[in-house]
Amino acid sequence: MADTPLDLTLDAARLTAQLVDFPSESGTEKPLADAIETALRNLPHLTVDRHGNNVVARTRLGHAERVILAGHIDTVPIADNVPSRLDADGTLWGCGTCDMKAGVAVQLRIAATVPAPNRDLTFVFYDNEEVSADLNGLGHVADAHPEWLEGDFAVLLEPSDGQVEGGCQGTLRVLLKTTGERAHSARGWMGSNAIHAAAPILARLAAYEPRHPVIDGLEYREGLNAVGISGGVAGNVIPDECVVTVNFRYAPDRTEEEALAHVREVFADCGVTDLVVDDHSGAALPGLSHPAAAAFIEAVGGTPQPKYGWTDVARFSSLGVPAVNYGPGNPHLAHRRDERVDTAKILAGEERLRSWLTA
Ligand SMILES: [Zn+2]
Repeated sequence: MADTPLDLTLDAARLTAQLVDFPSESGTEKPLADAIETALRNLPHLTVDRHGNNVVARTRLGHAERVILAGHIDTVPIADNVPSRLDADGTLWGCGTCDMKAGVAVQLRIAATVPAPNRDLTFVFYDNEEVSADLNGLGHVADAHPEWLEGDFAVLLEPSDGQVEGGCQGTLRVLLKTTGERAHSARGWMGSNAIHAAAPILARLAAYEPRHPVIDGLEYREGLNAVGISGGVAGNVIPDECVVTVNFRYAPDRTEEEALAHVREVFADCGVTDLVVDDHSGAALPGLSHPAAAAFIEAVGGTPQPKYGWTDVARFSSLGVPAVNYGPGNPHLAHRRDERVDTAKILAGEERLRSWLTA
């Protein structure tokens, strides 16, 4: 419940239940951030800082390497699924069990039980991940206190079903405009049809062959797709404008500038009269060849997977910190009314991270 202090002596599975019973829909994280701050300030081996409802705790042991464990403390809206419920088979049900209070519980357990880690540690707990990007607490900390996020490698404990997911693809959305000349459709030859002028764009899209580049051993899958088209004035008018909305999902061996240059080149001779960037979030390199990342993968086992969607690992990447997703929840169960997590996986995640950080 929201007025009980967090008990970091509970194992990560029981602590997950306590966190789930502490509601924290996006925008209402303050009580949980307060409880996390209070619990961490009781740990003498950590220095604790706070910015808004974002809490950052660090060891200062003077190790050559620093690793960041990060997680968001907000959830999507509750759907009659709080408080949590634990089944006899170890399934814990409730809003945020999977995404991502199980991961936050693992962070808190490592913070409480590993006072002398083999690398310096930074724990980041941030708000507003499940809402628009400008509210994202990790972004706010990166802007206000970038030094709090300095490190050699970051693990985001977002649900990844106990698999290491490296890097993430970038996403660029552009509006491709064609222009024509209006005329009465009874005398169509007097005008010029902007929708017909979009045909070369569509043909180019249909024929496009996306790359599958392998980076740090992970195969990414690019995609260039029309995601919208608009045009037309009235049922008896030759249209003078058409806009094709195109989304380019690109692998992390391209910079934002290179991705945009590629899109311009693809449509260079397609009669586009205007190209407008509607939205752009850069990709993140997996960075799995970094020694800290390699040691992490060695310790937690399994085969790393590429991340196709965009995640906060890209924020770390833009700060020069290679980052991966590694969390106990199954991502397919996130945001669902029947959201749940296998508590055995939470305990396994806790153990694997502890053995990596104490080896
Ligand atoms: Zn999440």
